[in-house]
This record gives sequence, C-alpha cells and structure tokens, in this order.
Amino acid sequence: MKEERKSLGLYVHIPFCAKKCDYCDFYSLPSAENRMDDYVQALETQLFEIAPRAEHHVVDSVYFGGGTPTLLGSKRLVRLLKSIQKKYYVTKDAEITLEANPESAGDFKELRALRRAGFNRLSLGMQSADDGELRSIGRIHTAAQVKTAVGAARKAKFTNLSLDLIYGLPGQSLETWQKNLTAAVDLAPQHLSCYGLKVEDGTPLFRRRESERFPDDEAQAEMYLWTVDYLHRHGFFQYEISNFARTGFESRHNLKYWTLGEYAGFGPGAHSDFGSVRYAYEKDLEGYIAGVKAGGPLLSENERIPPLDRDTEWIMLGLRTVWGLEPKVFENRFRRRFNCFLPFLDKCRQTGYAVEEDGRWHLTPKGFLVSNQIIGGMLDALGEDKKCREEARARGDFRVDLK
Ligand code: SF4
Repeated sequence: MKEERKSLGLYVHIPFCAKKCDYCDFYSLPSAENRMDDYVQALETQLFEIAPRAEHHVVDSVYFGGGTPTLLGSKRLVRLLKSIQKKYYVTKDAEITLEANPESAGDFKELRALRRAGFNRLSLGMQSADDGELRSIGRIHTAAQVKTAVGAARKAKFTNLSLDLIYGLPGQSLETWQKNLTAAVDLAPQHLSCYGLKVEDGTPLFRRRESERFPDDEAQAEMYLWTVDYLHRHGFFQYEISNFARTGFESRHNLKYWTLGEYAGFGPGAHSDFGSVRYAYEKDLEGYIAGVKAGGPLLSENERIPPLDRDTEWIMLGLRTVWGLEPKVFENRFRRRFNCFLPFLDKCRQTGYAVEEDGRWHLTPKGFLVSNQIIGGMLDALGEDKKCREEARARGDFRVDLK
C-alpha cells in the first residue's frame, strides 16, 4: 500500500536587523555581517541533521523569517534554500516565503536571483504609509522605499506579495489609518496582515509610553472594524483575526500554526511542533552556532504532547480563524462531546460575537475584537467538563465518555 506522506512546514529564523525597531520584542540583533557566514553554516548543518526525521514528510511550505532575512544577501539565502531542496522532499507547488524590510528589498537583481532560486512569496514589512508614523516607531525605511520594493518585486516576477501593517500607532487617527490601508491596497498585494500595536514590556516604546499619545481601545476597535469592512469590499477574504487574502493566497505557513499542522524551526528562538514534540531553541546566536558544532543547540522548551491533550490549543487556535470550530471534528479527535461549549457559545451568538454556520462555530469581526475573553470562556467550559468527567470516572461511571 502506498504510504501517505504527512505535510511539514520549515521555518528558518534569520536574527539580524539593520536597527532594532522601537516596538519590537522578537529575537534579533543589530546586523553582524561578520557572523553571517558562520550562522549560515550552522543552519545548514542543522538542516542536514534534522532531514532524516522528515523522510516521511513532504515539505509544502518554507518560511524565512526574522529579523530581516534579506540582510543575508541573495547568495547566502539561495545556498540555504538549495540545501533544503536537496535534503527535504519539497513539493513543486510549495509556498516559499521570504520576509523583507523595504530598505533591503529595493534591488531588482537580488530579488530576481531569489525568485529564480525558488522563493515565490515576498512578505514586506510596510507598517505605515506615513513617514512621520514610521519614524515614531523607529522604522528606518520611508513610504517611498515601500513603493520601490514593491516595484522591484513585481519586476522580479514575484506574483505573491504580502504587506504587513500596524494600526494603533502613536498619534494615529482613524483617518490616517484609512490612508495607510488605502495606500497598501493601491500597491495590489495578494495578502495583507494588519496587526494592532502591542506595547511590549522592555521595548523603547514601552519606556516612553507615558509621553506618547496612543489611540484608545475604542479608536483601535473602530480602526479594526473599518479594516475588515474595507478589505472585504476590495476583494480580500478575512481568514484569521489579522490576516486577509485574495482567494487562494492565504498563507500556508500561518495556517500550519492555526490548524495544529507540523512545522520544524531552525535558528535561535525558532519554535517547532514536529513528531508530537514541541520545542524551541534558546534565543542566543552564539550559543546556537556553538551548540550545532557541539552536537545540538540548547533548547528553551521541549515537551511531548499526547494528541488527546491538544484540545486547549485546538480551541484557542481554531477560534482565531474564520473556519472556527467544527463540533464533529472535535468529537472525533478528542473523543468527547462538544455539548459542554454550547451554553457559552449560544450567549456569544446572542451578543453578536459568534455565529453557527454550515455546522461550524466561528467568531464575527466584533467577536475577534474580544477573542481573548471568548477563548477564556471556552477554556473555562472545557475545564468544567474535564472536572465532571474525572469525578464521574472516580465514581466508576464511564457513560460520560464517548468511547
Ligand atoms: S525589522 Fe522586524 S524583527 Fe527587526 S527590529 Fe524591526 S520589527 Fe523587529
């Protein structure tokens, strides 16, 4: 009988940035040209080492994220992609994404070399179309450089382009956000990610938060709901809280996270969910390079998760997407009834936060705005159900179980 191969996504973290942005808490270091070759060597070694574990998988998504992957330059990026293509079974239609910042993606020849090597999706960190707003969050590019990068990407024949934007920036109004989003749509991307600004502890923006004028929650909610409506009217399908795409251009990489698919990450800080084990590498570039040489980089997380214990994740991640939760899938996958959620979901329906459609429960845009509270309510219902089942089992009553 022919073996059915499982699909796998690969994530390669490139932790270099020209300058740290004021709001960023990702693991990235100011560009260290003198460490790039050693780092690429370490990544390649580890890609080769992990490959045998993926021999029964097909790789249908490869994502180079960061940091700013384009800082590595096309030669190093192509070398890494070729190593992946050599050692993994990468499908012909695999989505191969490169994240880039506008100031490092304006060279058409570099982009053409990358596209010819197999990269077929470019994700650009646009963030705003207003130079003042860009400066206010410590971005080093300008709105003009976004246009140049998009032009270069088109000329290099990238036909799948994604733009990242942030709303809720210091001093931003609904009107200025509308201008940003309109400018982004005018650039004709296939995909848009629109994130609300989070002021993370430990960042420069956090330290000066008292002196900044951020739009309040109500203003941010207005920006979000306008975004959903505007993008819908312009042919973008909302498939997740913050992600919108033309039909067929949903990010395969992102969907792996939200549907509990398997992915293997490489590089300091990269996470994996592969072979029923969830693990992550320490956020330490030098430690990673030395660790690979010594037989394996240090892990900051390493946990084997039995399939039946993934119900919490399934609910949390499923509710982020427009496909929501399908009771039948829950019951087959976790061998328990979905009924415990119905009273809470019904309340959400009455308040306009959720709907039941085609046998699935999913959140509305208004519900996405309060998704954390809704997920909290769902997890309370799940916890209550588990408690009842344990008590029933202790009494010797197994009728509460489906099987
Ligand atoms: S470019 Fe991206 S990863 Fe680098 S500092 Fe800015 S937000 Fe962070």
